Amino acid sequence: MTAPSVPSVPLHSGTAIPALGFGVWQVPDADAHRAVAEALRVGYRSIDTAAVYQNEPGTGRAIAESGLPREQIFLTTKLWNSDQGFDETLRAVDASLDRLGTDYLDLYLIHWPVPEYDRYIDTFKAFERIRDEGRARAIGVSNFRVEDLRRVIDETGTVPAVNQIELHPGLPQDELRAFHAEHGIVTEAWSPLGQGQSLTDPVIAEVAAEHGVTPAQAVLRWHLQLGNVVIPKSVTPARIAENFDVFGFELTGEQMRRISAIDGGRIGPDPAEFNLR
Ligand code: NDP
Repeated sequence: MTAPSVPSVPLHSGTAIPALGFGVWQVPDADAHRAVAEALRVGYRSIDTAAVYQNEPGTGRAIAESGLPREQIFLTTKLWNSDQGFDETLRAVDASLDRLGTDYLDLYLIHWPVPEYDRYIDTFKAFERIRDEGRARAIGVSNFRVEDLRRVIDETGTVPAVNQIELHPGLPQDELRAFHAEHGIVTEAWSPLGQGQSLTDPVIAEVAAEHGVTPAQAVLRWHLQLGNVVIPKSVTPARIAENFDVFGFELTGEQMRRISAIDGGRIGPDPAEFNLR
């Protein structure tokens, strides 16, 4: 099957990330194997996992068994909080590569800043080494606030290629998106469908009906037109296909504004207070 073309978003590090990828949080390993295989069959070429999801082995096996050349796939994983620190990070990346059955990542992310631990600067210095040694083509962060991003840039001299943050209707993250745009950081939206909650919003239903598309497709279109990279998760084959079919229509400026004005807030933890390790 030829993959329909998904636009790519350039990373300042020189590579590019598909604007639409596939996430596997909360998917047990065997199910992740099935879901990633299905996503690759449908045409997704970007997969987002993490060490803490405990599904790197199934994800890696699905990629290997797909028969697709490794270089056609954009693979992201994340360093868990308890592995932060320079030496710990160098060990953790090798363990992730081993579980994924590959010798490089397309993107390696620090999963959370963990403010109380205060180790993300040393961690990011290890990321620079990992990038320089070719084990990750791009390095970035996740759940970083403006103040965390400023510190990384000031203290390491490297701008993270990506910040993956909670972002969905009701949480448009205008301040972070503006900071990212100013510094050439790509915004990647986690829980882009609000873990399914966005799909029952009446505004989303209206906009979807205006285009004859599903609520999920309307929400994903909103993200893409904002310039966000999205990684919706589903273990349901029909939804995996539905979420990939979002390049045949366009929201108007007025529809974009209506969705951006939806009230809401976080579903996940506040990065300022999330210190689990
Ligand atoms: P999403 O916003 O992607 O929503 C997933 C939920 O929506 C699932 O319950 C899924 O059900 C349902 N769903 C998916 N597509 C449809 C559809 N077309 N119609 C109706 N329901 C649908 O939530 P996630 O939290 O999983 O976020 C996506 C990815 O972002 C994660 O998998 C992970 O890779 C990443 N992430 C990163 C975090 C971080 O800290 N960096 C934190 C959280 C997520 P079903 O599967 O049953 O079909």
